[in-house]
Amino acid sequence: MIGPKRDPESVPVRDQESGPGVIEWRPGAWSAITWNAAAILVTVAGLVLFTQPVMLRSGSASGTFQVGLVDLLLVLALTVLLLVVHEAIHGLAMRGFGARPTFGATLVGHVVPALYTTAAGHRFARSQYLVVAATPAVTISVLGFLACFGPWGGYLIVPLAVHLGGCVGDGFAVMRTLREPSTTTCEDLRDGIRFRRIGVPAPAGRGT
Ligand SMILES: [Zn+2]
Repeated sequence: MIGPKRDPESVPVRDQESGPGVIEWRPGAWSAITWNAAAILVTVAGLVLFTQPVMLRSGSASGTFQVGLVDLLLVLALTVLLLVVHEAIHGLAMRGFGARPTFGATLVGHVVPALYTTAAGHRFARSQYLVVAATPAVTISVLGFLACFGPWGGYLIVPLAVHLGGCVGDGFAVMRTLREPSTTTCEDLRDGIRFRRIGVPAPAGRGT
């Protein structure tokens, strides 16, 4: 496990946390495969989307361009910058809702490096958690799309597309959270979400 020993996640609180109304959603291996496939599709869609303003600006549907080492480094740096800004926006949203966000890096499936923002122990209202999850993707993609009309637009296409592909996990979190009742609280688990359904009685009353 990554993180300090006093990390609440490593404390065996599972017994008291489980029970009626508490659901831990942790995407497993199959979800990871689905997400990666979705991320590739979204990245390709992003390439098409963010190319449009650049095309419109240059006034042609085709063109040749040369890519040098400096260009590649610039695109790589912009990609990393967007991913950092993405996490910062998660953090700002969490702070806005009174949480104390922490940041870190991890290896998804022990392979893919990824940044994360979490707020251990904080229970967000469902609507708040939806804002936290969706704001980075929306903000960066909308502002980025507009920036693609600018003179540096060509440098932004790949970083914005890669960023959008990286938002797939947030997208699945949003979709899962939307399936909860509006009164459910959401606790970020870094690799999942702990939902607490308010006022849910013993499971006997719930049909299939
Ligand atoms: Zn995110």
